Amino acid sequence: MKAMIAFLLVLFACAPRPVSQDTGQPYPSLTEQRAAAASKNHATPVRLLDSAQIISDLLFLASDACQGRAPGSTGHQLAAQRVMERMRAAGVDSFGGSLLDRRMARPINGSSEIRNVVGWIKGTRYPSNFIVVSAHYDHLGIRNGKTFYGADDNASGTACLLAMAKYFKQHPHEYSLVFAAFDREESGLEGAEAFAKWFAAEKSTSNVLLNLNMDMIARSDKNEIFASGISHYPKLRYLVDAVQEKVNVALLMGHDTGNDLDDWTKQSDHHVFHKLGIPFLYLGVEDHPDYHKPTDTPGKINFSRYIENCNMIAMLLEAYQ
Ligand SMILES: [Zn+2]
Repeated sequence: MKAMIAFLLVLFACAPRPVSQDTGQPYPSLTEQRAAAASKNHATPVRLLDSAQIISDLLFLASDACQGRAPGSTGHQLAAQRVMERMRAAGVDSFGGSLLDRRMARPINGSSEIRNVVGWIKGTRYPSNFIVVSAHYDHLGIRNGKTFYGADDNASGTACLLAMAKYFKQHPHEYSLVFAAFDREESGLEGAEAFAKWFAAEKSTSNVLLNLNMDMIARSDKNEIFASGISHYPKLRYLVDAVQEKVNVALLMGHDTGNDLDDWTKQSDHHVFHKLGIPFLYLGVEDHPDYHKPTDTPGKINFSRYIENCNMIAMLLEAYQ
């Protein structure tokens, strides 16, 4: 959902570690952050998540069989089925007896309905407080005979979400975790809107502590990924600090009005949580030339970097206190 933008890459490969300057912002400038990232020591990759499952799910969701996952299509149904099977296998609970939450389903333009797939894992210490981990699984479908595979957007986030559900079922968090594979993001955040409104009312907004949203987490030629939202919720910066030195990707803060980058606050499902006053952290890469094109295929993904991004997000969630 992000608009195309180009940047001048300024890297100071051997620069000393920068000090955060008093810019009035909750984090250093992009130049400082990139310089710090370039001077990080190599970290031995952490592997919490099932790499084989992540790759297999991404390849399936971005295959010809799933037809670009447009709501209402057979391919979209297959994708929803895969998401449900993985959540069921992980052993997560459902709200109201079904992972496919039909309470939130409603016809859209008379053609199809919202098919969010949502499961949850009870927290060990604060079961009444929830963190909603989300990724949209819908994409653009087939247009003019061409399949828009949406490998990065957002098979990447969905496959990561499913592996995280599996991991956190085996290693429960202190807080209750909701795993939400949202539908109809591409048509205007409709799936997230339907869920978040219901959920915030059901559990009360103050009990929903965070939305951790993943949308396009697989691809960056510069090996960068952004954690966006910290200018709105500065307290969340400790999560970035907690994982920064454990990963080789440049984990950057921005795209949330905290610096000169374009603002992604409204660009994906986290926006509906933000509107409800629920803090969000959005993980995503900058747009690439294949964004919203039929060429957003699995073949363009560096799987080793993608898997590291997935594990980084799992670590970030584990660090939440
Ligand atoms: Zn997307």
